[in-house]
Amino acid sequence: MRAAVLHAPHEPLRIEQVDTPDVLLAQEVRVATAAVGLCHSDLHVIDGRVARPMPVVLGHEASGVVTEVGDAVTDVRVGDHVIACFVVYCGACRQCRAGRPAMCQNREATMRPAEAPPRLAQSGREVHQWTNIGGFAEEMVLHRNAVTVIDPRMPLDLAAMLGCAVATGVGSARTVAGVGPGDHVVVIGAGGVGLNVCQGAAGAGAASVIALDRSDERLALAAESFGATHTINTAADSHAAATIHRLTDGGADHVFEAVGVPALVDLGLEAAARGGSVWAVGVFGDDAEIAFPAGHLHSGKGVHGVRAGSLVPRRDLPRLVQDYLAGALELDALAGRRIPLDDIQDGIADLERGVGARTLVVF
Ligand SMILES: [Zn+2]
Ligand SMILES: [Zn+2]
Repeated sequence: MRAAVLHAPHEPLRIEQVDTPDVLLAQEVRVATAAVGLCHSDLHVIDGRVARPMPVVLGHEASGVVTEVGDAVTDVRVGDHVIACFVVYCGACRQCRAGRPAMCQNREATMRPAEAPPRLAQSGREVHQWTNIGGFAEEMVLHRNAVTVIDPRMPLDLAAMLGCAVATGVGSARTVAGVGPGDHVVVIGAGGVGLNVCQGAAGAGAASVIALDRSDERLALAAESFGATHTINTAADSHAAATIHRLTDGGADHVFEAVGVPALVDLGLEAAARGGSVWAVGVFGDDAEIAFPAGHLHSGKGVHGVRAGSLVPRRDLPRLVQDYLAGALELDALAGRRIPLDDIQDGIADLERGVGARTLVVF
């Protein structure tokens, strides 16, 4: 099958032939990829901010149709429409047993054992499968806990975005922070994840949802389609925290940092109300460190890490599908260009320039 392979940081993705195994292991499924979203986390690997073994097939929010299942797979069938999501969990460790698959501490159990041939290979040499997904490919061989079966009425191109951008954004607002009616919410970064934090917070009844970004285009999208009540272009307003305190009568209850820049966590603490929380949703570089005035702690403010919106895939993804089918979740405005695999490098360039919402590779 064909896949977009990254051989080294800063190089373009190359469309190449990649081999998948003829025989599945007992716990595996084979999926014909329908669509995959391009996410900033993919870019972090390409630009070297996040170091990963190479060569690698990136892509971690995908959808597709199951074409084969391993002998022990009883909960997924050939022909099922699925979302392949980067929250791949063993199902047996302490975190999984406690209902926190996003925190799974034994992801090795969802990979192939060393003695088995790799899931992806070129001339017998392993090609890594990023986040155990590797969605920039015509076909995915996955652990069964990497996939969630969804309602076949759901358009598969839009479904792909549920696996990362939507799950992380909506889950951060709904599940992790527990945004409630009357809360004042600030969202820093109006990309794929940030827009979904906006709609999650708006749907939870927030009194205000203030979106911050450096792009007027994205801020307009946040206000028109994702429930932002106010927008601040931080390239034009160097006193964003003061503006937020004025708009919210004393600061935000919840600030979501959806970019992955340490200085923006500091801005979030400035913008937070006494007792408010900053939720670090963005993916930071491997060497990033965060420093902030300790006095914020004495004001009862806190910074909390967020992992994948604490997603429980088989509980939350079908619910998001139903929300979309019921008209209660905006996805159409989130999707930008649809491109074929051969044009993926153009999509990566879109990401680098920060244009559009979510570029989708469709198969
Ligand atoms: Zn992502
Ligand atoms: Zn686990």
